[in-house]
Amino acid sequence: MASVELRGLVKRFGSFVAVDDVSLTIDHGQLVCLLGPSGCGKTTTLRLIAGFLEPSDGEIRVGDRVVSSRARTLPPEQRNMSMIFQSYALWPHMTVAENIVYGLRLRKMDRETIAKKLAAILATTRLEPLAQRYPGELSGGQQQRVALARALIVGPETLLLDEPLSNLDANLREEMRFEIRRLHDEYRYTTVYVTHDQSEAMTTADLIAVMNAGKIDQLGTPEDIYARPDSEFVARFIGAANVIKGTARDVSHVAFAGATLEVVGARLAAGQTAPVAIRQHEIQLSTQAPTATQNTLKAVVTRQVYLGMNRDYMVETADGTSLRVTTPTETAVEKGSEVWLTLPPERCRALSR
Ligand code: ATP
Repeated sequence: MASVELRGLVKRFGSFVAVDDVSLTIDHGQLVCLLGPSGCGKTTTLRLIAGFLEPSDGEIRVGDRVVSSRARTLPPEQRNMSMIFQSYALWPHMTVAENIVYGLRLRKMDRETIAKKLAAILATTRLEPLAQRYPGELSGGQQQRVALARALIVGPETLLLDEPLSNLDANLREEMRFEIRRLHDEYRYTTVYVTHDQSEAMTTADLIAVMNAGKIDQLGTPEDIYARPDSEFVARFIGAANVIKGTARDVSHVAFAGATLEVVGARLAAGQTAPVAIRQHEIQLSTQAPTATQNTLKAVVTRQVYLGMNRDYMVETADGTSLRVTTPTETAVEKGSEVWLTLPPERCRALSR
């Protein structure tokens, strides 16, 4: 195993820049998710790491070896990496066991070692009862586990996963997230995992790199990314936060819709436009005027939907800003009603970008 380091990585397709000056260090044994919306450059970054694409600029190092640069790109088969694709790409005419050991046979490993490694990986991936079946006789989740077993058995230095769960139904996807994390904890391969699904990234990753338009917008632990977003893009993309635009009064107070909000996060300069993120379930909604005046605002309910577990409100503040608010089901307020919102200071996060 080794660390993977991207330094100033750029990939252009004609004049279009798909990966734009990406630098990222993935420590030995760490699992990093590249997370972002469709087209942000995740797969292109992964394909550059795998060696399927040559960089337009910058370099990729694995340990102290340069594997990609403008001068030289090592072919995929010389990188000691395993990649798992969305489609699993299993051989339909081979059994589960034959699919899994295919890579070891190519490496001309002796029969006894192959049998030992196969038994171990079948046990870890819980595929023993299915070893003699063909891929066509397996469910999507089982095929996914075969693809994982096949990738892991060769003992790669680096494991690359490209939306590995996107072909599974929602329940199975959730179960397989935990499975991938469990296998990672067991094998500790340096892993790069591409997904557009934030809960998948939160469950599996040590670190999440949120990508936007070819760049890494923020890198951090799942908790950093969720609780301490830096930018409006990350706040909106992760957990769909409300982002309100006020004007800073001083380093930690923002004027918004006739109220003053005390905020945490970025240090503000008086007079600057201040984007402030707050999540929908962190806003309290009430029909009674609160006793405190700081961090409270008046608003009008423009939509209310009953969701079983809670109610989903859309409210409009005096300056015409729409905010989404989630409340317990007991808080039932008609559309058109006037309400008071309390935005707890520790939940109002001023964003630096
Ligand atoms: P998705 O989640 O939809 O797979 P992604 O973040 O993985 O998205 P990429 O596949 O990396 O996105 O693509 C990034 C951008 O580069 C897209 O706008 C895509 O159209 C463009 N792109 C990718 N490959 C090529 C290519 N071979 N030629 C031209 N443009 C390309």
